Amino acid sequence: MRFHILTIFPDIFDSYLNESLFKRAQKAKRVLIKTYDLRDFTRDPHRKVDDRPFGGGPGMVLKVQPIWSAVRAITMRIAKGRTRRPRIRTILFSPRGKTLTAATARRLARYDHLVLICGRYEGVDERVADHIADEEVSIGDYVLSGGELPALVLMEAVSRHIPGFLGKEESLEEVNGSFPTYTRPEVFVPKHGSRTMRGRGWNVPPILLSGDHKKIKQWRETHGAAETS
Ligand code: SAM
Repeated sequence: MRFHILTIFPDIFDSYLNESLFKRAQKAKRVLIKTYDLRDFTRDPHRKVDDRPFGGGPGMVLKVQPIWSAVRAITMRIAKGRTRRPRIRTILFSPRGKTLTAATARRLARYDHLVLICGRYEGVDERVADHIADEEVSIGDYVLSGGELPALVLMEAVSRHIPGFLGKEESLEEVNGSFPTYTRPEVFVPKHGSRTMRGRGWNVPPILLSGDHKKIKQWRETHGAAETS
């Protein structure tokens, strides 16, 4: 899987993507991630990526031209010298898009390349949604300042479905859905200053300590949320 991120803030991604699972997956070349600064694709000597909205109103709108040029450059580079046509999906982040679900993530994990367009300001010229993006994705019913956090959320949700992305120890959730987890101690007794709340510890459900794997599986199923929708 190759992620191509179009943004006006490429540095935002450095820290998160160079830690933990993404760091390991990139090193193993299971996932390749490239950020593109939209300013590098402008035709304007001032590298201006935004302009005022037609019809008036506050704020600025990301222009269609740099996005078109960037997507075209990326897709042409991908196609160059290939005999098999790579599966490419172009996604525009928008609070008006279809909400990201586990099913969307699983579906998107089947592509070879995901081109992710991060909006900013008052949004993106609607012609990007109409003519360039294959789909618009929202990560929830709220408005953020940009598409960079949605891009990270989508990349992580998708990557978890790529074979080998998760280590053995993290893979349980993918198989069984999400369920409550506990670790040592079996009883945790919170202390308030020097006072111990005697006899009022927080206990781990006894079934998880029973060693009965069948019952543990049933307990997890009844207490969890399967990753289906
Ligand atoms: N007025 C714009 C609209 O109604 O679409 C909101 C623009 S928002 C301030 C700037 C950018 O952040 C959007 O273009 C989009 O890329 C991203 N964004 C904000 N909230 C989002 C959400 N819930 N899901 C996905 N992307 C979001």
